[in-house]
Amino acid sequence: MENEVIDLRSDTLTLPTPEMKHAMNNAVLGDDVYHEDPTVNQLEEKVAAMFGREAALFCPTGTMTNQLAIKVHTKPGDEVICDQLSHVYLYEGGGIAMNAFSSVRTLAGDYGKLSAAMVRDAINNPNDIHQPITRLVVLENTTNKGGGSIYNFDEIKRIKTICKDHGLILHLDGARLFNALTETSETPKDYGEVFDSISICLSKGLGCPVGSVLIGSSVFIKQARRARKAMGGGWRQAGGLAAAGIYALDNHISQLKNDHFRAKKVGELLMTYTDIISLYPVETNIVIGVLPENIEAVTFVAKMKENNILCSPFGKNLVRFVTHLDFTDSHLDVLESKLKLYNTSRIL
Ligand SMILES: *Cc1c(COP(=O)(O)O)cnc(C)c1O
Repeated sequence: MENEVIDLRSDTLTLPTPEMKHAMNNAVLGDDVYHEDPTVNQLEEKVAAMFGREAALFCPTGTMTNQLAIKVHTKPGDEVICDQLSHVYLYEGGGIAMNAFSSVRTLAGDYGKLSAAMVRDAINNPNDIHQPITRLVVLENTTNKGGGSIYNFDEIKRIKTICKDHGLILHLDGARLFNALTETSETPKDYGEVFDSISICLSKGLGCPVGSVLIGSSVFIKQARRARKAMGGGWRQAGGLAAAGIYALDNHISQLKNDHFRAKKVGELLMTYTDIISLYPVETNIVIGVLPENIEAVTFVAKMKENNILCSPFGKNLVRFVTHLDFTDSHLDVLESKLKLYNTSRIL
């Protein structure tokens, strides 16, 4: 147990289960650039239907699905509104500038969430030639850097109304949308109705090795498919990966609530045994701990690592722990024993 490593750096670290591998091995394959991989087509049709939309596009990463959406929705020089903590702005390698040549307006939301009033106040006057033309609003649900925070769906609908009134397009980075849906009463179709496009990740809480899906109208997806080819993202016999996605959608959504329950427990343990002084509200599977001013995140993370507990620095005094499919109740017990040991040896 002492040598066992508890890895809570990210929910991307999961390995495919034997059942998922079985599904992957048995997938029927074809060339997806020719649109002839039956399993990829099945996944795309399944996801489009789930969200009540016409079409979907299977891609290797959520960065690609987000970037394709932004590229297709904007023209060079247009402006994208997003939260200052958003993944599309912070964690996609400057992709908005590189791929879409768009200007970005970042807003200081609430744990990564924008309000309708903030969006309304950030829209430029389209008749003022000094200002970039506001074209697209990107929301993230749940928010990563906001600690797995969930949007209020009524606020999303109010943002949609603002977008409609100003001719703006609305995209959702739903990397962890199923985590949000687990805790609320909305359905994928409710989201499909409100957003022009949605990106979901299969490689986070759903436990796939690879994969994200972009969802929208058939015209939009056709443009995204062309842009994906130009980015070098046209893949061939991708059906094995799509099979993992189909398996995950059928079998892993229902277990997300366990991740959320365990995240709350992790939060309590961290507050009891470590130098973390407070937590962001733990709403889903992400726990962000706040350290005192005099303890830097990198120092804390290194000390945790000495105790075989892995977490991520998430700002100067912030650390992130993420629960996932490969972190079970017995791992929770192991974590508690390790934290107890850590507590008795801690010098800070
Ligand atoms: C993980 C993640 C993505 C996509 O990341 P990839 O590693 O490119 O798949 C997008 N948005 C959010 C909020 C994420 O957490």
